[in-house]
Amino acid sequence: RSSTKKPHAVLLSSPGLGHLIPVLELGKRLVTNLDFHVTIFVVASHTSAAESDIIKSAMTPNLCEIIELPSPDISGLVSPESKLVTIIRVIMRETRPALRSAISSLKSPSPPTVMIVDLFGTESLVIGEELQIPKYVYIASHAWFVALTVYVPTLDKIVKGEYVDRKDPLNIPGCMPVRPEDVVDPMLDRNDQHYFEYVRLGEEIKLSDGVLVNTWEDLQPTTLAALRDEKLLGRDVKGPIFPIGPIVRPLGLAGSSSNQLFDWLDKQPSESVVFVSFGSGGTLSSEQLTELAWGLELSQQRFIWVVRPPTVKSGDGSFFTAGTGDSDDLLSYLPEGFLTRTRKAGMVVPEWAPQVEILSHPSVGGFFSHCGWNSTLESMTNGVPMIVWPLYAEQRMNATLLTEELGVGVRSEKLQSNRVVGREEIKSMVRRVMGDEEEGNAIRRKVKEIKRSAERAQVEGGSSYNALSVFAKHCQSRPSKFLQLNAF
Ligand code: UDP
Repeated sequence: RSSTKKPHAVLLSSPGLGHLIPVLELGKRLVTNLDFHVTIFVVASHTSAAESDIIKSAMTPNLCEIIELPSPDISGLVSPESKLVTIIRVIMRETRPALRSAISSLKSPSPPTVMIVDLFGTESLVIGEELQIPKYVYIASHAWFVALTVYVPTLDKIVKGEYVDRKDPLNIPGCMPVRPEDVVDPMLDRNDQHYFEYVRLGEEIKLSDGVLVNTWEDLQPTTLAALRDEKLLGRDVKGPIFPIGPIVRPLGLAGSSSNQLFDWLDKQPSESVVFVSFGSGGTLSSEQLTELAWGLELSQQRFIWVVRPPTVKSGDGSFFTAGTGDSDDLLSYLPEGFLTRTRKAGMVVPEWAPQVEILSHPSVGGFFSHCGWNSTLESMTNGVPMIVWPLYAEQRMNATLLTEELGVGVRSEKLQSNRVVGREEIKSMVRRVMGDEEEGNAIRRKVKEIKRSAERAQVEGGSSYNALSVFAKHCQSRPSKFLQLNAF
């Protein structure tokens, strides 16, 4: 196809690596599988070297056009108490004028014919409306999270009082109920702005012509069916649901991989190493960090641990505050003598590690994870069982999904009540997952099954491959009237 005839998709990513990575990967998929032309608008947070590395590596090979939108000044619009969802929504709201003029002047190689925004970009769906091009939301999480999000405007009307104070779980039509202690962060306080933002976001999804979601049919058949059923959640989502996942980062994009780390991994027995990492910005309290160090040491398992300075308060995680990466500082956070005593058994990496490369290494047999959805998919697609340690966002739901529905991980009950998990329990969780007892074997069998099911979904003719093709047809069956429109 000549480049002027190709569909031209504009994608919008909100700040934060956990948002940027799946949007970049979707962009590449649209180019390679569907032969789209793709322009990705990125609202960068400019807080970590990893972020610029990932943007740069997505530019080469030059599959997609990447345009960075200037970060707006939000200083007068948020306070030090503002929560993460509020901050991101305000950033995206303030970015809208720049996005609108950037899209309207985009004429090369052809004007946009379809628009895809991520979870926090739903307020920009009106731009697609103005352009009269089809517009979609890409939710880079799982179907149960989509279900809660589109149903929250209804819950807002029918549930009185704080969700977290309830004894009974929240019923979501056709889906597994959500326990009060598992609700997403913005539902923790109904009087805070982040809750209003989340309810509005749930409503705005209805403005889209459909929802792309980073899961696959065989992983969540019941929830996907509920989202499509007019008698259940179908009316809360206007268009079709396209389960196109798992979309995960391929190997080799990690930037500078440490040879020392992989030389060490190469020498370890198969599936003997537990990888410990809490996403792009998750941090622990200093008391919890100490217990984790002792727990790992007592477990006598081999490990790779991505360590970050502890936080004083728990909550959102230090999402936008990636640290300095100074490895000397590490010593002051870890128990005295820890590095020396664990020198042979473990590797401690400051701040950031090439996660996909580590998880795909045959020596890795467990992932101690905060359960961000990207991390979760990276673990499952590599057949690595998990110790689930949710910290923020929708991660408590993810942890419940992984342990209670999918059976690919173990969890501490204490995390549910925000208590510190002690070293003995950490040791026992590591052993349960890595050990040779029935529980560990069952979890390993299950995660390998899921790995194979993910592979089947993605190959030609598989459910996610087909969903992406149906999506391509869906966008083209609604012809763009862009050319008839002069400007905004
Ligand atoms: N990541 C990485 N190295 C690190 C930490 C994170 O490569 O040391 C990547 C990880 O592979 C994943 C993403 O950053 O692709 C984190 O996304 P996720 O949804 O798991 O969590 P979030 O950071 O959004 O909480």
